[in-house]
Amino acid sequence: NYILAIESSCDDTSAAVLRNNNVLSNVVASQKIHEEYGGVVPELASRAHQQNIVPVINQALAKANIDKKQLSAIAFTRGPGLMGSLLVGTSFAKSMALGLNIPLIEVNHMQAHILAHFIQDKDMAPPKFPFLALTISGGHTQILKVSDYFEMQVLGQTLDDAVGEAFDKSAKILGLPYPGGPLVDTYAKDGNPLAFEFPIPKVNDLNFSFSGLKTSILYFVQRKTKENPNFIAENLADICAAIQHTIVTIIMRKLKKSVKLTGIKTVAIGGGVSANSGIRKAILDAETNLGWKVHIPKFEYCTDNAAMIGIVGYLKFKKRLFAEQDVTAKARYTF
Ligand code: ATP
Ligand code: FE
Repeated sequence: NYILAIESSCDDTSAAVLRNNNVLSNVVASQKIHEEYGGVVPELASRAHQQNIVPVINQALAKANIDKKQLSAIAFTRGPGLMGSLLVGTSFAKSMALGLNIPLIEVNHMQAHILAHFIQDKDMAPPKFPFLALTISGGHTQILKVSDYFEMQVLGQTLDDAVGEAFDKSAKILGLPYPGGPLVDTYAKDGNPLAFEFPIPKVNDLNFSFSGLKTSILYFVQRKTKENPNFIAENLADICAAIQHTIVTIIMRKLKKSVKLTGIKTVAIGGGVSANSGIRKAILDAETNLGWKVHIPKFEYCTDNAAMIGIVGYLKFKKRLFAEQDVTAKARYTF
């Protein structure tokens, strides 16, 4: 079967076509408009989705060499995300499924970040159940126990900022453009992670907190800039390396704790921040040093993309888990 998947939860408009668990195309249109505002502007995001959605879907179909009449179902992101953005993809998916008279499949975006590991890949086998999933993105930070495709239990999550926010807000303090996460990663490569030290927050259980880190970086930078106005420019690589090192340390401590508590040593990461090289390296090292089996998605399936929506579509299609035509978008969508 062929499934068309549509993702429009935040600021990327994406469409993909899958044949079973194989990705035939995965087109992503990123919105540049938000850069000048230093963050995603919801109203502008939904307008851009309106403009992008038809060309992006047409491109995905063309790249897959599929006519829309061949489609078996349409999967779409129902939430969580920005309501105005979700509405565009949801309404479009509903109309198209109605027009083609094929089933509609609703997908939870965060579940998709995890189930992206089940996309067919010649180099990598999917994780075996049960496994621990770490989802780190612009809006979420969670550790889950995944017992089956749709049986997931949250073990811990952030009490304030998400990891992606921690990266982006730190980058903003350093005067880097939005989204700054990938830039911190790039500069960190040339820096000394131990050049500066930022405090590790004390949070009980398996939960996270990142808002304190942002504050301590702000005070640190303000203090240093008073002494030397060029402090940031002269130490950018070291500051970025130290920030990244702190974030990686926080994440790895919680992951180790989760492995200890559950006895599960298979760990899969997902979400946009799993593109971070420091996190990827730390997880890979754990495979060598701690005997974990780790799963790291390909870059293109880490950040927001429709292929991950499509794999959930395929898994639900097999179980005949279809949505009704009156299904509505959900900005807050927990599972
Ligand atoms: P959610 O999935 O929670 O709805 P989102 O869709 O906005 O949020 P993603 O697209 O999954 O988030 O991830 C985007 C986030 O990932 C941004 O905060 C961005 O800065 C961060 N990010 C991407 N690449 C890197 C990197 N190499 N290092 C650090 N952060 C990164
Ligand atoms: Fe996402």
